[in-house]
Amino acid sequence: MTWCSRRTLIRGAALVPLAATAADEGARQAERYFPSHGTYGHRTLSYDLHLAYDPAAGTLDGRARIQAVADRPLRQVELDLAGLTVHDARIDGAVVGPGRKRNKLVLPVRRPIAAGTPFTMEIGYGGRPGPVRTPFGQIGWDRTGDANEGTLVAAQPLGAPSWFPCNDRPDDKAEFTFRVTVPRGHHALANGALVDRSRRGPTECWTYHHPGPMAPYLAALYTGRFTHDTWEARDTSTGRRVTGRDAYPTYLSRRARYDLARQPAMFEVFTGWFGPYPFETYGAVVVDAELDQPVENQTASVFGRNHVDGARTWETLVAHELVHQWYGNSVSLRDWRDIWLNEGFATYGEWLWSEHIGEDSADTIARAAWHTLARRPQRLRIADPGPDRIFDDRVYNRGACTLHALRLTLGDDRFFALLRGWHHAHRGGSADTAAFIAHAGRYAPTAVEPVLHAWLHEKQLPPLPPARS
Ligand SMILES: [Zn+2]
Repeated sequence: MTWCSRRTLIRGAALVPLAATAADEGARQAERYFPSHGTYGHRTLSYDLHLAYDPAAGTLDGRARIQAVADRPLRQVELDLAGLTVHDARIDGAVVGPGRKRNKLVLPVRRPIAAGTPFTMEIGYGGRPGPVRTPFGQIGWDRTGDANEGTLVAAQPLGAPSWFPCNDRPDDKAEFTFRVTVPRGHHALANGALVDRSRRGPTECWTYHHPGPMAPYLAALYTGRFTHDTWEARDTSTGRRVTGRDAYPTYLSRRARYDLARQPAMFEVFTGWFGPYPFETYGAVVVDAELDQPVENQTASVFGRNHVDGARTWETLVAHELVHQWYGNSVSLRDWRDIWLNEGFATYGEWLWSEHIGEDSADTIARAAWHTLARRPQRLRIADPGPDRIFDDRVYNRGACTLHALRLTLGDDRFFALLRGWHHAHRGGSADTAAFIAHAGRYAPTAVEPVLHAWLHEKQLPPLPPARS
């Protein structure tokens, strides 16, 4: 395989993820839901991934250039990487001997890197990538149907190490560049904007750049053969026009085009409710594979072929993944414990969309969801559901009911101002439930805090406030 040539890309503004301090690093690591993923030893500024994929062999040759900053004195640097073989590594240009410990890649450094010092890692790696075993099943890199010879990435929450070395924490967000070489006739799609496409002999290199910042689990690469469509939508909060791009297997074009056609309308109404769209582009990618759920990969959500039928049966999921671009992707989780901040918001976005298009109102859906929740065992605190229950449907529905209870308490004007303010305050960053309760308290402290406490921290389901007339 030949490699893409390196081109200088215009860097986005430096975006600095949350820093950890040495004193609390161990405690912070231990209290996370998945402490074996990620490290607080460093934070990442950028990933520059050179990837050459051979669909006939199913092999990936990778070279990752990762810029990071030490958050404490480092004698070794830890990254997450599953399955693939590392054949060389350098730190600041010096060759180092990589070590492996399960799904950890450990790079020793000759002289300790002082806290606050930026450094650059270069890692050559490769092999036959595949999904990694997690408590949520096999996730990450996967191949699509044989006829398409394609690949996909659906890595939420722990699958990112299946295809590149990373600091796999949801709150370590960075800028990304992807330079992907595939045989001519195959396509490559990744997060962000396509900035270059160049042919070299029998291969073609597709270069994407995404200033992000983006958590590793939301990084995506799709290869194969696709039909592409572009669409334009107006960000009603800023007047900016944003170009969207969808992709799907050609044989699904008619169905996918119809099912995805209302994305520009969603985009316009969501920018009114939630505020400025946080990224440079958006699109849906339908892959030639069946997926349990679509995934909100940043700027490029992925849907399975089972999510398009030409009848908009799954349009609520199209809305759901777009809402995640604000809530989940732009405002990320501090830890997976806070998953209701992703899924409660995206589920409530589905209900708002239903109300907007004249189908069931959010109030009708919320009351039906409440009755379903009331019949279930009251054993879950959605602000701390437990690592094995982060995707429990009660987290989604009770999370959305929490927002509906807030809306009924505050009234529409203050409620939507609260949603916009939450994104504005944490855009590009990470946040947790305590920060949300403090944020909501600024809108009506005496009314809101008891409501949120009961919905988020108690097991017993509280009543929904009466509907507003
Ligand atoms: Zn979701």
